[in-house]
Amino acid sequence: MTTVAAYAAPAAKAPLERTTIERRAVGEFDVLIDIKFAGICHSDIHQAREGWGEAIFPMVPGHEIAGVVSEVGPGVTRFQVGDRVGVGCMVDSCRECENCKAGDEQYCVKGATMTYNGIGKDGEPTQGGYSEKVVVDENYVLRIPDGLSLDVAAPLLCAGITTYSPLKHWGAGPGKKVAVLGMGGLGHMAVKIAHALGAEVTVLSQSLRKKDDGLKLGADHYYATSDPKTFEELQGSFDLIVSTVSASLDFGAFLSLLKTRGALVNVGAPEEPVSLNLFSVIGGGKTLAGSMIGGIAETQEMLDFCAEHGLGAEIELISADRINEAYERVLASDVRYRFVIDTATI
Ligand SMILES: [Zn+2]
Ligand SMILES: [Zn+2]
Repeated sequence: MTTVAAYAAPAAKAPLERTTIERRAVGEFDVLIDIKFAGICHSDIHQAREGWGEAIFPMVPGHEIAGVVSEVGPGVTRFQVGDRVGVGCMVDSCRECENCKAGDEQYCVKGATMTYNGIGKDGEPTQGGYSEKVVVDENYVLRIPDGLSLDVAAPLLCAGITTYSPLKHWGAGPGKKVAVLGMGGLGHMAVKIAHALGAEVTVLSQSLRKKDDGLKLGADHYYATSDPKTFEELQGSFDLIVSTVSASLDFGAFLSLLKTRGALVNVGAPEEPVSLNLFSVIGGGKTLAGSMIGGIAETQEMLDFCAEHGLGAEIELISADRINEAYERVLASDVRYRFVIDTATI
């Protein structure tokens, strides 16, 4: 076991504070990673504040991890000391179920082991990336291509794959009109990736405040959802809408923006149940869908794609003592577009 410094929430809704945690000894197939950067995802806040239900405390959040391998177990074949690597939202899964075998480890029938706020195979709570080091089985470690710097790569491990996977699955590409709902951490990556995939991209954001950024990042059009005219003008426009919003939405209004047989895919997760008049999907044969991160192979594909197209996250690098302040700013949508913790400051 190794004792490492970390930032943890001691209890639900309590501010995060500096502490130490134990990392397991490096096992046969494990990789020890010196964490260099950790992104702050909105879901860190949901979980640290028990917005998604009961959670495990103390909790070290963080599932957008980028670092360098500093030790490998004797059975490790895929990584060497010095490799640049990442860890996303999961650190293990059963490896035997239909979904694991199909490369959809995130949908493991027995439940994937989440990077934090989960229980590892050793029976101990998992702890995330707001820390100096982490030990992860090599099969759940990703390679960060040389073309991506680690700080802007870190958010790709959640925000990147969460948007890449549904864009690919629902066929975003040349000739397709894709709307990205919400221009935050996930949304700004969705814009970059959808543009790089060749789709015509429209941002639907509450206001036009971030319009210049959106157009710069690859959007072709930008509309304010606070303006009722937006919904008149864009009726029946899109093949695909990816909603990155984690607040409740008027789904009927957004479904009306889809073409016949279009799909609205949710990657943001509101804390409250939503209500929906089903005629808004029946008419036009529309799909209301969800998507959660992506499998390990697909995450590697996303990292390679982003490196090839020069896509990193737009980040604001912070020291660890500013995590609580950063949480408040994420909740106020006051970040362009992802906070990343410099873990050397923990
Ligand atoms: Zn996340
Ligand atoms: Zn499984």
